[in-house]
Amino acid sequence: MREKLVAGNWKMHGSLSENKALLDAIIPQLADLSRASCAVCVPFPYLFQAQAALQSGNISLGAQNMSQHEKGAFTGEVSASMLLDFGCKYVIVGHSERRALYGEDDATVAAKFVAAQKAGLTPILCVGETLEEREANITEQVVARQLDAVLAVAGVAGLAKSIVAYEPVWAIGTGKTASPEQAQAVHAFIRGKISAASAEIAAGLVIQYGGSVKAANAAQLFSMPDIDGGLIGGAALSADEFVAICRAAQQG
Ligand code: PEP
Repeated sequence: MREKLVAGNWKMHGSLSENKALLDAIIPQLADLSRASCAVCVPFPYLFQAQAALQSGNISLGAQNMSQHEKGAFTGEVSASMLLDFGCKYVIVGHSERRALYGEDDATVAAKFVAAQKAGLTPILCVGETLEEREANITEQVVARQLDAVLAVAGVAGLAKSIVAYEPVWAIGTGKTASPEQAQAVHAFIRGKISAASAEIAAGLVIQYGGSVKAANAAQLFSMPDIDGGLIGGAALSADEFVAICRAAQQG
């Protein structure tokens, strides 16, 4: 059986004092999780703070982005090895905000995916369609194109050491969650597509759902057969919400 993973994406939120309060609240409450894993993906300046706090407990650390380059004249960028220095296990690549606001195309996302794995990080690869694309009935085409870009450079074996997050762009930060059936359909499509290359890798692939997951809808989403936890934005900033979502993954 696949493990469920819940990862909080704090986005560009937080301060030293707010983070301390949040981490102090969630770490002890999640100390007994065994059937699900939890992670927090924090802004770069707070990696050190989070790494120190997460020494106790069983929550993993992740980052929200990284450079595809190993080192060099890339002002303002952060490399995979720097993330490893701060104890990161995960890094989100291809979040829709990076794709839409910072011009990250499929090839760039794929290069980041490969660079993350090469360094020893587990990439959380975000894929998903916009509202216009859903309404044009091209959701599967869009998700397939985003996956194909990664498959072309990492191969299906690359996906064995990664997490995929299906995040319909229209559901992110909007309060509009995909219904469990809508999400399940795309998750099944993703697993089926990977299965065509390797049934074994597809069966073991953790596919998270992201898009306005809250304590109130997490259990239903996580009960679907191909939904293996969630990538959580807004609700990850509330200790009560995040803990309840992680608990729902533990039950599901
Ligand atoms: C996200 O940032 O990846 C996300 C899913 O955000 P939210 O949960 O707020 O929709």
